[in-house]
Amino acid sequence: MTTLTPVLTATWDQPDSFTIEGYQRNGGYQALRKALTMDPDAIIQAVKDSGLRGRGGAGFPTGMKWGFIPQNDGKPHYLVVNADESEPGTCKDIPLMMANPHVLVEGVIISAYAIRANHAFIYIRGEVLHVIRRVQQAVREAYEAGYLGKNILGSGFDLELVVHCGAGAYICGEETALLDSLEGYRGQPRLKPPFPAVAGLYASPTVINNVESISSVPSIIANGANWFASMGTERSKGFGIFSLSGHVKRPGQYEAPLGITLRELLEMAGGIREGHRLKFWTPGGSSTPIFTEEHIDVPLDFESVGKAGSMLGTRALQIFDETTCVVRAAMRWIEFYAHESCGKCTPCREGTYWLKQVLQRLERGQGTEEDLATITDIADNILGRSFCALGDGATSIVHSSVKHFRDEYIQHFENGGCPFDPAASTAWS
Ligand code: NAD
Ligand code: SF4
Repeated sequence: MTTLTPVLTATWDQPDSFTIEGYQRNGGYQALRKALTMDPDAIIQAVKDSGLRGRGGAGFPTGMKWGFIPQNDGKPHYLVVNADESEPGTCKDIPLMMANPHVLVEGVIISAYAIRANHAFIYIRGEVLHVIRRVQQAVREAYEAGYLGKNILGSGFDLELVVHCGAGAYICGEETALLDSLEGYRGQPRLKPPFPAVAGLYASPTVINNVESISSVPSIIANGANWFASMGTERSKGFGIFSLSGHVKRPGQYEAPLGITLRELLEMAGGIREGHRLKFWTPGGSSTPIFTEEHIDVPLDFESVGKAGSMLGTRALQIFDETTCVVRAAMRWIEFYAHESCGKCTPCREGTYWLKQVLQRLERGQGTEEDLATITDIADNILGRSFCALGDGATSIVHSSVKHFRDEYIQHFENGGCPFDPAASTAWS
């Protein structure tokens, strides 16, 4: 039985966990003191050796990304934290920043020192004003304590850290759209390559990492790369925060080694709500193909989830019991993607709009067999033809729901209406 590994979440139940006093009482900023005595390259090597992979969803090796930053190039380097968490079901970075903002600030300082950046930004989703205020307060406290600004702790290292608020567009979580937004433009994805590590913010080498990735750095420096690498699986090392939501008795954040299964997480979360059974679930947010009960023992690591036909993504486990209409779930997610499509490329802009129209018709029971073929065809024409991951992600629910629940789609148009009672399900209220 896998057990929880509370590291980032260890102090969340302490009433002052978010203050600098609370953080320091629990050993906070000791890793920074250690890091400032190390060579920056040794820090990059430690992160490489730890096996840490991007916790924003894609799982790109963090140390390798840092290693792409050219050295002695005469250009400024930037560190940008992607705190624009908005993938449906994903709720790990926001509670982390609320309960433990200083672990992020400490991670930023160590990471910026490693990549030789003197300017860092935390780009936070605009809707979460309470989180923005909490992080701003932590940054102020860190400046007052001498952890930010000029000559940090007498090391000669300078760092300015800016908290920047987004304006609430899902696409600004895509790293290059985020950079456009940070530069003051309308947020739309840029062509890659060049990757941000080569030409990012103001065309300078830039590391962009997710909140949880950067927040994992202090514990790696404090405890060593081997400590982190000893958890998880062979290629998906360490721990991560799994967010459980939906029809589960105790929804919330569960920090556990990668490779834990949904069965184990459900046991910790008290199981599915009383008298009901698991119908389908997302392993990593709405952009990942859905799983069913048959996948309950799939180890939740990048490789195993991929082999089973989905993606680990953001580890946002949205749990749905048998009262949920999968056609309605697909329709609601597609409405989201159609609304959030930035409009830059035709397959996504037009495709998500048409998917929405046809899915709404199917859900009302006014669709036909031909509509079922049409949604698959539209999704086939979006997948692999879109400019960024948003378009591809939108197709996941269409392909996977048709694959696992084709009969339920047919039932809708044969019955001339949705066979589910929306009042019975709390997931789509
Ligand atoms: P990606 O695989 O294109 O890139 C991942 C990271 O690796 C990026 O930082 C990229 O710059 C870097 N990278 C990749 N190849 C590189 C190379 N050759 N050289 C240098 N750097 C390289 O993925 P993506 O489009 O950035 O992200 C997609 C993921 O985002 C999805 O898997 C999804 O789970 C996740 N997502 C998360 C949220 C959220 O709220 N956290 C929202 C939507 C999507
Ligand atoms: Fe914009 Fe969608 Fe194209 Fe991405 S896939 S660039 S969100 S239109």
